[in-house]
Formats: sequence, structure tokens, C-alpha cells
Amino acid sequence: MNIILLGPPGAGKGTQAQHLVETRNMMQLSTGDMLRAARTSGTEMGKIVADVMDRGELVTDEIVIGLIREKLQEGSEGGFIFDGFPRTLAQADALGELLAENGFALDAVVALEVEDEILVQRVVNRAKEAIAAGKEARADDNEESMRTRLMEYYKKTSPLIGYYHAKGALKAIDGLASIDEVQASLANALDG
Ligand code: AMP
Repeated sequence: MNIILLGPPGAGKGTQAQHLVETRNMMQLSTGDMLRAARTSGTEMGKIVADVMDRGELVTDEIVIGLIREKLQEGSEGGFIFDGFPRTLAQADALGELLAENGFALDAVVALEVEDEILVQRVVNRAKEAIAAGKEARADDNEESMRTRLMEYYKKTSPLIGYYHAKGALKAIDGLASIDEVQASLANALDG
């Protein structure tokens, strides 16, 4: 099964994706994680995207489509979870083409719905928790970058809700509930 987890930053896409990896043998494809890994390893691409990411803006479609193209070729027995990709209509079109080229279907698009003020709080708390645990917080987990990330989401990513709705693939779930409850609604959306 191949699915997209759609939703604003801080909605819980990554947390839910990890659970699906553990329980369903799926492969998580998070472009955010791939970009952060490129930065840590100091690749040319990592250097190019660093400032854009820290400001909370989107990196170019070309870069993220290239990352996904590579991973899809590897294949995954349990299927793929697209987490944080696609984020623009151009990326959504490209994903459709890449899936078709590789002989894969898109089985569901699940939108996690959470109110903005809760998202900002979650992300600011995520930074505090990381620091308290002696880890480095994400450079974009601060209120200013988070406001930019939300604006990017509304301008460029939220049109994907209509796009996938029109394709008959969209399922919306309440992302405000506890992690366990969201897990249960997600399982329902995928299996029901
Ligand atoms: P995330 O971990 O998904 O919140 O992504 C962190 C940052 O990486 C975003 O704010 C963007 O700067 C960049 N990014 C991740 N995925 C994409 C994407 N699909 N398209 C453009 N930029 C992305």
C-alpha cells in the first residue's frame, strides 16, 4: 500500500509514519528528513537548502522530486509512506508520474487536521523537549519560522487537499486527538 500523509507542519505526520513503519513494514519517505541528512553530511545540496529550510520556506520542486525519484527505484515490500511530500501541485503531478513509471498505485491520501495555534505550540514544545533531552532542536522549530512554514502550507500545499479530493483519494482525520487515537483513525482510514 502506498499512501500520502498530508497536513500542516506539526500535525503529527512523522509520528504516525513511524508507527506505520513499525506495524506494517512500510517505508517512510520524508523529504524533510532527507534534506536534513544532506545538510548534516555537508553535501552541495545540503548547503544550498540550509538557509531556505531555516527560514521555513520550501526548497525547489526539482530538488525534492529528485530525492523521491531515487528512493522509489529502490522499491519497498510494504509500500511507501510519503511524509511531507508532495507539498506543491507540481510535486503532486510529478509523484503521479513517478508512481506510474514504477508500476505503483496511490492507495490513499490521509489529511491530518489540526488548528494553527495548536501547531505553533506543538512545534515550540518540540524544540523545548529536544533541548531538555540534551539534543539539538530543529533550526526551524521556532515561532518565526513556524509562521512562515504555516503560510507556505496554506499558499502552496493546502490546494493538494482539493486536488486529491477530486481524484477520490482523500480521507481526512482529526489530528488533534491523542497519538493512540490518531493511530486508530488512521488505521480505519487505511483499512476501512
Ligand atoms: P519537514 O521536516 O517535512 O517539516 O520539512 C522541513 C523543511 O524541509 C521544510 O520547511 C522545507 O524547507 C523543506 N522541505 C521538506 N519537504 C519538502 C518538499 N516536499 N518541498 C519543498 N520543501 C520541502
